[in-house]
Amino acid sequence: MRKSLAINVAKIGQNLDISFGSIENKPSNSIHFNDILSEWTREFLETTSLTTPEEQFTRLKGLLKLTREHNMYRIEGEIEFEPLLECVRSLTPFREKVTAHVSAYFVPETSAAFKNSGISRYMNDSKPEEEIELESSDLETYSYNGNFIELDEFIIDSLYLALPELPLCKEDCKGLCSSCGTELNEVYFEGKKISPIHTKNCSYN
Ligand SMILES: [Zn+2]
Ligand SMILES: [Zn+2]
Repeated sequence: MRKSLAINVAKIGQNLDISFGSIENKPSNSIHFNDILSEWTREFLETTSLTTPEEQFTRLKGLLKLTREHNMYRIEGEIEFEPLLECVRSLTPFREKVTAHVSAYFVPETSAAFKNSGISRYMNDSKPEEEIELESSDLETYSYNGNFIELDEFIIDSLYLALPELPLCKEDCKGLCSSCGTELNEVYFEGKKISPIHTKNCSYN
């Protein structure tokens, strides 16, 4: 497997579509994510359980359009995926469909647009203790060097940013008992309702 998810600009031409999952009406100049998947991105998807490895990332769905604009490349589209999340109240693991709406520019590393961006200032900053605030527009700009556009960082960022900040397993999740830590949600098992059972010496008994 390739180390990084790099696409030759010659292959992009004026535009190129990158499809994820099964896509009906496949666009003419297109490549499939599974065919260009790199070690780095696969490792990220597996270790963060963003998708189920046993399904070979078929749960990633969507289409990204890469379009040339002068010497820049614009990438936009949607990636739908099903990350493994942990409820902030009850710590229950659960999966939820999330859609990442993405839009970013790839500019040549030598261009003025990149040099003026916060990312470049941050990278070249001689005083690392001084914090530079990245504006949201800066975060949507990536650089490319030479004839290859590397998509790993962009895809990883896009999926991460789409994750819910405070995931809840269900809207009315009751969380955990503040005394003994028992989950307070009623659980249904084989059609039967099981109410929370506090530990023996819990003050809520
Ligand atoms: Zn919960
Ligand atoms: Zn309790």
